[in-house]
Amino acid sequence: HPDRVAAKTYVIGTDVTYPPFEFANDNNKYVGIDIDLMKTIAKREGFQVKIKALGFNAAVQALESGQIDGVIAGMGITPERRKTFDFSDPYYKTGYVMAVAKNSSISSYKDLKGKRVAIKTGTAAANYAQSIQKKYGFKTVTFDDSDNMYNDVISGNSVACFDDGPVLQYAVKTGTKLKLATKPADGGYYGFAVMKGQNQELLQKFNHGLKQLKADGTYQQIVNKYVGSAS
Ligand code: GLN
Repeated sequence: HPDRVAAKTYVIGTDVTYPPFEFANDNNKYVGIDIDLMKTIAKREGFQVKIKALGFNAAVQALESGQIDGVIAGMGITPERRKTFDFSDPYYKTGYVMAVAKNSSISSYKDLKGKRVAIKTGTAAANYAQSIQKKYGFKTVTFDDSDNMYNDVISGNSVACFDDGPVLQYAVKTGTKLKLATKPADGGYYGFAVMKGQNQELLQKFNHGLKQLKADGTYQQIVNKYVGSAS
């Protein structure tokens, strides 16, 4: 029956763990700013979502090869990615930060000379680290998720890692034994991504929904739920 067509279901890829944007809670349910935004927008705009926690790089690749419809994963809108993906309106500001172990004496890029630095595959922060790698003479080791990258620094295998400011701040606040060693470097904004030229209806619905959530205070409520009103 034409007027009872089921709401369309979109498959959305996300990171395995990138709190406060996406993470499994105590009931092993995926929550976070990205998840709440996507689910709330879907409800209001009348579509269904199936969230798949694939890992950041895997999610981006799945999108590129057409296996999923979109990615929401604290994904930075970068000029490079814009060649392959269409992004929603920006929804969160970020910047790249270097983090070191709590008791570390490393406080600037200069201290990295000859040392090992942990980075996360396919991320904008990894790109940033690689762009300054030659100048500061450090080695890199790559990880697929932020947790393993942080642990490599905490255990002393690496002296530092690079990730996004909001994510590292949240990690430190929730007890991860790291401290931030630098001020955020230019990172831009997060956006929801679809493959270039595809799923434009989904993108428009996301943008429309996001605008409503910002206008009626729901966006701020979702952010506050995870990071408190101070940020
Ligand atoms: N914000 C980073 C990027 O856009 C990393 C995202 C993530 O690790 N989930 O590349």
